[in-house]
Order: sequence, then C-alpha cells, then structure tokens
Amino acid sequence: MSAAEHLLVVVTGPGEARSLIEAEVAHPQLSVLDVGVTRGDGIFETISIGAGHPQALEAHLDRFARSARMLDLPEPDRDLWRDAVQTLAARLSEHEEAWVKTVLTRGIEGQPVPTGWAYGTVSPAFRRERTEGIDVVLLDRGLRSDAPATSPWLLAGAKTLSYAVNRAAVREAQRRGADDVIFVSSDGQLLEGPTSTVVLRRGDVLSTPPDDVGILPGTTQADLFAAADQWGLRTTIEPLTPDDLGDADAVWLVSSVRHAAPVRSIDGAARPVDTPLTAAMNGFLRARRS
Ligand code: PLP
Repeated sequence: MSAAEHLLVVVTGPGEARSLIEAEVAHPQLSVLDVGVTRGDGIFETISIGAGHPQALEAHLDRFARSARMLDLPEPDRDLWRDAVQTLAARLSEHEEAWVKTVLTRGIEGQPVPTGWAYGTVSPAFRRERTEGIDVVLLDRGLRSDAPATSPWLLAGAKTLSYAVNRAAVREAQRRGADDVIFVSSDGQLLEGPTSTVVLRRGDVLSTPPDDVGILPGTTQADLFAAADQWGLRTTIEPLTPDDLGDADAVWLVSSVRHAAPVRSIDGAARPVDTPLTAAMNGFLRARRS
C-alpha cells in the first residue's frame, strides 16, 4: 500500500458484513474532517462484477485516473486499486451480479494525504428496469455544451463525489412520475443520465453523444459499441438533440450496474422498446469476464 493512500477495503455479503482489512462497513471509518464528506471533494468509480470478474476494469481505472487529473488529485496507484477491486470481486464470486466502488478523496482538511477505500456488495435485482423499461424526463442541466472548454472548474464530465445534483434530478423525475432523467444542455444538446449514458438506435446505427459536451465517457456504452457488430449494428458518436430521441427506434440508459435499461417513455410520451436487442445487450453485458 502506498504511503499516500490509505486503502480501506471492505466487503459486505447479503445479511452480514465481513471484513477484509480490519474494516467493516457497519463501523465508522472516516474522519468528520475528510473533505470527501464535508465538500464532496473526491472521485469514485463503480465497477460491476460478474461472477467474481470485474467488468471493464481497465476502462474504469483509466477513468479514475482521468477524474483525478481533472480534480488535481494525485495519480491513483493503478496496481493498488486493481488489486483492491480484484480482491473484493473474488469475495463476491458466488454472486452472478455484484459491484465494487472505489473512492478517493482529497483527505483531511489541510493535510496533503488523500483518503481511499473500496467496498463491494451484491447488486440489487434490475429485472423490471431491464425488461419492462424505464420512464424518463428531460431536464435542463443548466450548463452549455461548451462548459468543459469555457469553465473547466465546473468539472463537467469528471466522476466526482458531488452527486447531490444528480440525486436531486432523480427526485425531480420521481415527482413527475418517472424513474430517471436525461439531461439536456442549456444550448439544446443531449447529454447523459445522472448515472448513465444515453444510447439510441436509428435503423442499424447505435449513437451516443461525444464526451466533449461535458459528459462522463461511459464504460458500458464503450463495451456495447465494441460489440455492436455481432448484432449487425454500426455505431456513431455524434452531437445529438432531443429531436433525435423522437426519431429513434429505441433509446436506452446504459451503466455499469443496471446495464441497459430501455426507455419506454419520455416526458410521458410512450417510446418503442426493442425487446430482443435489449435482451441481447444485457446478456452480453452480464456475461463479460473482463
Ligand atoms: N454518466 C454518469 C454521470 C454516470 O454517473 C455514469 C455511471 O455511474 C455513467 C454515465 C455511465 O458510466 P458507466 O457505463 O461507466 O457506468
């Protein structure tokens, strides 16, 4: 373990907590002075685990390092974090679906030492979301799509601990009778969900917006696009607008743990669900072994 990172690895199983490195998820572990807590100043990744195998692990480690750079945090020790995730994943191998979260904060206020930990647990069931689909609303994120260039301090596209806004957006969706959100930039570009990437199909082409509009580069979307050939599909990464959603044959919100959730309505208007392709995508995502 590097001196710069205090890696706390905790794993929980259903019903009971088991500790790996002198740590239990049910016991207090973090200082109240840690800026990860007091200011949301830190980064994280959530990695899905399929039968003990971390999925898209190298892509997650890349993105963890990218977020650290964007926040001027020290470069995470890649081998250390890989070990942490693999150790936890092995402990969860009897479960078909689980996840591991890695967190790195700037540490205790005024001290130059970051705090890091990883923990893992079993995934909830997403049968309804993956098969019946989800209702979404479009919400204005209030940022222009050029915010990453004009205002990099807004950290658009970094996976920071400051997810209160994303959680508030989901509560707003629920107030409107929906499950989830697709954010739109203030200049009308389609962005992402609060915890997912937007993918749409028009004919035999899958499309998603580019990262430079201020969204997180999705590891699930990347794996799906790399596999699209096997479903006879081509892929494009291009700027998209809400009109493109209207023209789409199918829309999904894709992410590491929930996988591909087909969108069955947008702002109350029913949308077609591509049931066979959704099942094929989710079968592929679930079966990944790296
Ligand atoms: N966009 C945001 C804002 C997210 O938080 C996430 C995942 O949590 C995603 C996209 C999807 O990323 P991934 O497919 O790597 O889980």
